[in-house]
Amino acid sequence: MSSQLFIYNSLSRKKEAFVPINPPFVGLYVCGPTVYNDIHTGNLRTFTSFDVIYRYLVYCGYKVRYVRNITDAGHLTNEAGEGVNRMESQARLEQLEPMEIVQKYTVGFHDICRIYNLLPPTIEPTATGHIIEQIRMAQQLIDNGFAYEVNGSVYFDVQKFSEKHAYGELSGRNIDEVIAGYRDLDGQEEKRNPIDFALWKKASPAHIMRWESPWGEGFPGWHLECSAMSTKYLGQSFDIHGGGMDLKFPHHECEIAQNFGVVGAAPVRYWMHTNMVNFNGQKMSKSLGNSILPMELVRGNHPLLDKSYSPMTVRFLFLQSHYSSEIDLSIKALHDAEKGYRKIMHAMENLTEITYTETSIGDNDNTINTLLDNIVAAMNDDFNTAKAISELFALSSQINIFYNSDKKTVGISLGTFERLLTTFPTFINEVLGLQNENITTDSSTLDAVMQLVIELRNEARTDKNWSVSDKIRDQLKVANIQLKDNKDGTTTFEKN
Ligand code: ZN
Repeated sequence: MSSQLFIYNSLSRKKEAFVPINPPFVGLYVCGPTVYNDIHTGNLRTFTSFDVIYRYLVYCGYKVRYVRNITDAGHLTNEAGEGVNRMESQARLEQLEPMEIVQKYTVGFHDICRIYNLLPPTIEPTATGHIIEQIRMAQQLIDNGFAYEVNGSVYFDVQKFSEKHAYGELSGRNIDEVIAGYRDLDGQEEKRNPIDFALWKKASPAHIMRWESPWGEGFPGWHLECSAMSTKYLGQSFDIHGGGMDLKFPHHECEIAQNFGVVGAAPVRYWMHTNMVNFNGQKMSKSLGNSILPMELVRGNHPLLDKSYSPMTVRFLFLQSHYSSEIDLSIKALHDAEKGYRKIMHAMENLTEITYTETSIGDNDNTINTLLDNIVAAMNDDFNTAKAISELFALSSQINIFYNSDKKTVGISLGTFERLLTTFPTFINEVLGLQNENITTDSSTLDAVMQLVIELRNEARTDKNWSVSDKIRDQLKVANIQLKDNKDGTTTFEKN
């Protein structure tokens, strides 16, 4: 069994032994959501992957500072290649203040994190909370000769940077390819080179989110916020930077150039990128109508779904693939994940009922210890959750054999039995973050919740709000709860 953790580094394109810069501390930065709409299932997969990576590093004994930002301001290039502030354009669409948009979708994001059992990062900084740091970094880049100001905006000079440092290493592009393939139409008329990107944008009179700067009123560029916040909280050089693979270029490439431009050294030791989620073999997209959101999966309210799926089923499905592989979401994959998740939860319940008779170390010990070693080895091999889960399945089958044996007793040494009793649930609950979903639905909780639901429905009926009262009854039916309106005017419920 290898006790050394290996990580596939997207920068070197090699699996490398993980050696932290300053052990036992580990600095981990993950690009967070842009809070102008709900995150999609692909984003959730990325955050789930890094949640498990964070959990496993903690399990290994590292003291991890996990920074995941909230992009609540910033200049982004949209699909058409135009520069926009997405919080502002969404605010216009929904007729809200930009900060109302930010609040609405930040709360929504945190709800999803809680439901899917993602641990909060240790620091969750916002772009609007770090405007001063971003202005300072833009100024340093101007001072170092890698940025220039024009008409109140500041741009990064990619050509000049590439004369001294490598640009495009992470995404495997050389500067000529970047120039040839660039479609960023933003600021065309004032940039020295079309591939230069904005560090700071002058605010037009109509622009609401604006801050004072040495170059007049404006707002920061998106790439700059991650550089400013990772430097502030993790230092000029830190261990792991992660994100979805779609962020490799230009976002992460720009981050590297900005950090390099300030300190003259590479900011990150290990770059990690997660792969995409497809549906029935097709890329998920709004225009194809196959973009199912995380909340739609758990509510079952999308035309392509046959029913709702529990958050733990979806989480299990994600972890059945290595983070760097594509996932193909489908009804069959969801059904299989539901079955697999239940099998492992069932084995965990059975384990609590098994007793042991102490024997000298024998076959049972060897089988159990090998499987437990394999789980650790899988995680040490670039966080291979897919392999770890297949070992957990094998271990579940073994536990069930013990459970079904005479008097649920297993002949095993005390050391191995204790290792099994702690390691199996620890990996499932703490490392993979899979909870037992039955725990929270004891009957007294259900009674209290149902009392409230019945009262709300009675209020709706008094107000003759039939659509609400019918909706409550119908949705409960979906959850296998039947309401009964009794002759004496009371309402009771039955759970099927
Ligand atoms: Zn970022």
